[in-house]
This record gives sequence, C-alpha cells and structure tokens, in this order.
Amino acid sequence: MCGAAARPVGDQLHEPSDLEVAISVAQQLHDSDQILSLREALRLLLRALDAEPASSVPANGTGDRCPAAHPDDPSPCNGPAVVTVLDATNAGADGCEHHGARLLASLEGGRVYGLPDAPDGAAVRVFQTADTTRPFAWVDAPRTKPSQRSHAENRHGGEHA
Ligand SMILES: [Zn+2]
Repeated sequence: MCGAAARPVGDQLHEPSDLEVAISVAQQLHDSDQILSLREALRLLLRALDAEPASSVPANGTGDRCPAAHPDDPSPCNGPAVVTVLDATNAGADGCEHHGARLLASLEGGRVYGLPDAPDGAAVRVFQTADTTRPFAWVDAPRTKPSQRSHAENRHGGEHA
C-alpha cells in the first residue's frame, strides 16, 4: 500500500500542494494567539498529511447530523432539523435547535427562521439560546475578544468586567 499513493515530485512544482499551503499557513500563524486560526491550520496540515484524527472524519463522509452542525463540533443533534439559519449573505443551513443555535452564535449578522413544520417557538428558542452561546462554542479556549464572546456577554461588558 505504500508507494502507489506517492506522487511524483514533478507534480508538486506546478502548483502548491495541500501540504505546502498548510505549511505556509502554519508558519504565518506560528505566533498567533487566535486559537480558531491555529486549529484551522492544524486541520489543514493534518489533512495534507492524511493524518486527521479519526473522530473528525465522519464514517459516511457527511455524518448523520443536521447540516448546521460544524464538522469540528462533536456534539450530537438534539432533534430533527426545525430551523434554517442564514448568514449575512443569505447562505443558509437547516439545523436542529442545538446546532442551529451554535451556528447562529458563530455568525455575524445571522438570522434564524423556523421550518414550515417546526414546533411553535423553535426559531425563538434558537435565537435566545444563540444569544448566550459563544461563537464556536465547542472550542475550549480563553475568550478575551468580543468576537469570541456571546452577544449577551458583550452587552454586559465581557467576563473580565
Ligand atoms: Zn443538529
């Protein structure tokens, strides 16, 4: 199984390989304190090396969670997809209340709408949950910047106030 997958060196001269891009990103972010960027760089690097952690690669390629679930967020759905979350450019994803709230909290200028067969109040619950949910809630990192805190925390001056 080794050997067959190796690419000729010449191929890599035509355009940057995933690994070269990942290395350059990693070098630029080496001294960064932005955990999300660092995680993305690490993910790129591991993907280029074909060494992604098994847990981040769904067995069926898409996972069996709602479209709003972030690939790096390991949490399961808490029900069927009941809302559509739109970002500022009207790109949207359907999601369960749990992932809908997490996605909405991670967006600038995001909106949420209930799907036609959603239970009463689903969109309102998602909106309220998102308000107190930190962006990229699944990332365990210090929250020192407004962009890393929930809307409610920012209204109250943040956790260090
Ligand atoms: Zn979900």
